[in-house]
Amino acid sequence: MSLIISDIPIEVNKKNIKNMHLYVKPPDGKVSVSAPLSMSDEAIERFVRTKFNWIRNQISKFDNQQRQSEREYVSGETFYVWGKRHYLQIEYGNKNSLILTRDRAVLTVRKESTAEQREAYVREWYREQLKADIAKLLPKWEKITGLKASSWQTKYMTTRWGTCNSKTGKLWFNLQLAKKTPECLEYVILHELCHLEEKNHSDRFVALMDKYMPMWREVKATLNEQTLDYME
Ligand SMILES: [Zn+2]
Repeated sequence: MSLIISDIPIEVNKKNIKNMHLYVKPPDGKVSVSAPLSMSDEAIERFVRTKFNWIRNQISKFDNQQRQSEREYVSGETFYVWGKRHYLQIEYGNKNSLILTRDRAVLTVRKESTAEQREAYVREWYREQLKADIAKLLPKWEKITGLKASSWQTKYMTTRWGTCNSKTGKLWFNLQLAKKTPECLEYVILHELCHLEEKNHSDRFVALMDKYMPMWREVKATLNEQTLDYME
């Protein structure tokens, strides 16, 4: 059977299980719920309704991934670097380059290059920007907090700004942080460092954040203001 809640179709599978499970699956955010055989349709619908904000959130993440692949790397597209908007201007040449002027991002690529090839170059460009800033800012926050990452790396992600492996002490940072303001990067660095001390977003974790960056809530709000891979 299936339910439709606020225009979102939800596939329902009754199985010999004890608990309900809700899934939003790639690649397009299809929603399905598994429920115990004995559970009434009304109870399933009630459960799904209580999770509706979460479902919507998950679906929008898939939408954003979709939007990313639609980016064409043609003149006129918006291009964010460290929180500042530039307009992409495509030039043709044999050697790839990306040069920022006041309001433009001049991307030189081979004329026959595909959107995927342009994107691959741009991602590595963002990676260089981000790595240079992390190399400066991570030691700063390690000194302030007395916490130390064993190593760190950058990675393209669409659902998280950073991650921390609290067992190994390794931190990962989303390449897309180079699109956001530098304060956003500082916030994510501090956030991941605090996970070395406290795994969960517990009261203790929040107290650490409050201690080292009293304004972190405001910064977090600006970080999530725009979706990842935002296009105008
Ligand atoms: Zn966290």
